[in-house]
Amino acid sequence: MQNSRRKFIQQTILGSYLGSHGGMLFADSKSQAPTSSLRKAKVVIVGAGFGGSATAKYLKIFSGGQIDVTLIDPSPNLVSCPLSNLVINGQMQISEIMKSRDPLQQKYGVRIIQDTVERILPEVKKIVLPQGITISYDKLILSPGIDMMWDSLPKMKDPVLQNRFVHAMKAGSQTLTLRKQLESMKDGEVFAISIPLAPYRCPPSPYERASQVANYFKKYKPRSKILVLDANAEITSKSTLFKKAWSNYYPNMIEYRNNHTLVDVDSSESALLFEVQDDVKASVLNVIPPMRAGDIAFHSNLANINQRWCEVDFLTYESKVIPDIHILGDAIQSSTQTPKSAQVANGQAKICASAIYQQLADLPINKNPTFSSICYSVLGEKTGAHISTMHQFDPKTQSMAVVSGSNSISTTDNAQEYSSAIKWANDIWSDTLI
Ligand SMILES: Cc1cc2nc3c(=O)[nH]c(=O)nc-3n(C[C@H](O)[C@H](O)[C@H](O)COP(=O)(O)OP(=O)(O)OC[C@H]3O[C@@H](n4cnc5c(N)ncnc54)[C@H](O)[C@@H]3O)c2cc1C
Repeated sequence: MQNSRRKFIQQTILGSYLGSHGGMLFADSKSQAPTSSLRKAKVVIVGAGFGGSATAKYLKIFSGGQIDVTLIDPSPNLVSCPLSNLVINGQMQISEIMKSRDPLQQKYGVRIIQDTVERILPEVKKIVLPQGITISYDKLILSPGIDMMWDSLPKMKDPVLQNRFVHAMKAGSQTLTLRKQLESMKDGEVFAISIPLAPYRCPPSPYERASQVANYFKKYKPRSKILVLDANAEITSKSTLFKKAWSNYYPNMIEYRNNHTLVDVDSSESALLFEVQDDVKASVLNVIPPMRAGDIAFHSNLANINQRWCEVDFLTYESKVIPDIHILGDAIQSSTQTPKSAQVANGQAKICASAIYQQLADLPINKNPTFSSICYSVLGEKTGAHISTMHQFDPKTQSMAVVSGSNSISTTDNAQEYSSAIKWANDIWSDTLI
């Protein structure tokens, strides 16, 4: 029963959303005579990670290539956070999680600009690049991911400390720094990871990281220890599975302490300082600060919920603050049961792309959008586990709600689910970029 439901959810996730929604829309767009507004429409997308890249691709697909799409990101490749903990652990190379965006340009005709958007001028509908270059838009889409709330850890405002006590919650150079720090540790030394209060990017990922660091220590530094210092009252995702895996595979290696709110670091002592409890010293500190919407959204006053997250209309992903700016992915305020994940950003991207296409083509907007959430974690030596849910727009709350009975969670981690995790990652990379 559990298995067949999981299979159903997995099949629904990437393939059939397009079959039932995207495919239909593409057919619509072909049969529909192009409106002049559609032909002239200019969409600019800021951020070519999971949300932004998928939105660019699906805008082109849904409009039969008619919408002019410009995608802007400073990084030459998409570096995937999913599976990045396996790079930290040494099981994978960073090259295996670096994905080219060339197909978006070559196959779909998306214009890609490698740069950072510095400012938005909503009153004249333009974005500003360095050197004052401006680009006009009819619709602007932001999928800038997260940035850190350094104000909550005053000493960590220093960039030198940010490069020493890395968070590695944006895959790339920090992933490699953490890997090198682990390799430099002597057997018997301590690795400490501090986890902020939820919501933060990918709830299970810090616990997966602790598991994969333990997996590395077990092989190469068996006397070393891991301290998981969590501001939350309990492991925020797959709690039973993590606890079971830690006691089965890594006995006495991982110590979990809840309710540990980090207030700063002491760099001279290499110590974490907490609101209530004693300081904790360790050789390697993996400091994960509280997070908020990415800088471009934050500094454009779009993060109107608690000065952290952006409020949007869940039928179109249009900002509730500034019209014709759509925001998706980790930067938005979503319901408590919607994790900040690549899978969710992918679903939001398709809804946002279809709504913008429909708006520009004077078609009715889909009033019943759905997406799936599935999140795999690697717990042991090539063993994995998943948690998944289906989400549907609820007209009463005007938000995405979990479909009753759609929850599925592994009963135990195993090799088959590890293979599914690797397959899922390959599928989402393809669906986003190819
Ligand atoms: C360790 C770890 C493991 C994870 N594992 C999983 C997993 O197994 N499954 C899962 O579904 N999710 C996972 N996630 C979460 C997932 O990576 C994020 O939820 C997802 O990347 C969010 O997509 P996004 O588009 O919002 O942001 P991102 O993918 O981070 O993309 C944001 C992009 O915006 C760009 N950008 C920012 N500001 C600007 C600007 N001013 N101008 C131009 N470009 C800009 C950035 O360069 C970046 O490329 C994991 C995360 C971590 C940290």
